[in-house]
Amino acid sequence: MSSQTTYNIRCPQCGHQQTAELYDSIDAAKNPELKTALFENRLNRVLCTSCEEAFRIDKPLLYHDSARNILIHWMPDTALSREEILDEFDQSMEELRAALPEDVEPPRVRLVFTRVELVELIFIIEAGMEERVVEYIKYTIHLRNPARVPPMTKQLLLNVQDSTSEELLFAIQNTETFELEDVLRYPRTAYRTMREMYRKKPEDLLDLFPGPYISARGVLMEETLNEDGVDEE
Ligand SMILES: [Zn+2]
Repeated sequence: MSSQTTYNIRCPQCGHQQTAELYDSIDAAKNPELKTALFENRLNRVLCTSCEEAFRIDKPLLYHDSARNILIHWMPDTALSREEILDEFDQSMEELRAALPEDVEPPRVRLVFTRVELVELIFIIEAGMEERVVEYIKYTIHLRNPARVPPMTKQLLLNVQDSTSEELLFAIQNTETFELEDVLRYPRTAYRTMREMYRKKPEDLLDLFPGPYISARGVLMEETLNEDGVDEE
């Protein structure tokens, strides 16, 4: 079910306060028009009634596709740190598990931090691809091309729609300007080989990407921070 709540919003341009109806969750199967709005970056947008500035409100959103059995929580890391979000996420999953009868498996809920990650993940799942294998490919691309795709400032996005039966197409996005700067092609046969290995022996990739947030760049940034001895405490 898709649900909306009324929020008090302050215009980032002129400071005008108004109320707006924003989505807390959308069901893509029941409301495909909301999925389209999300993909076209029109969801949870507000038009200021004073200065007519249009802006997007980044707030937690549960993406649900009841027909395909997909649940993804988009929790923007604007107000909270990623660590705090992960803690909160773990806690809510624990509560869900406790609330369910013992013989009922809790649903799998994935976690993303940005709208771009959400859209990419929906495409990956709908294409029947393994997201851990896709992230592992990104992981190796980052490691082999440190000058072209440094994980601190560039992120790889799989473009499912423009990939072919021979090649996977990745866009290289600058994480500061959000510009798509370049494309990189990767043989699909290598993806298939890796997927077979993952199906036979999933432990390695499960260790690298335990979830619920599965991100090559996230893992690499953490490794870099640990190497530099940066302690955030
Ligand atoms: Zn305004």
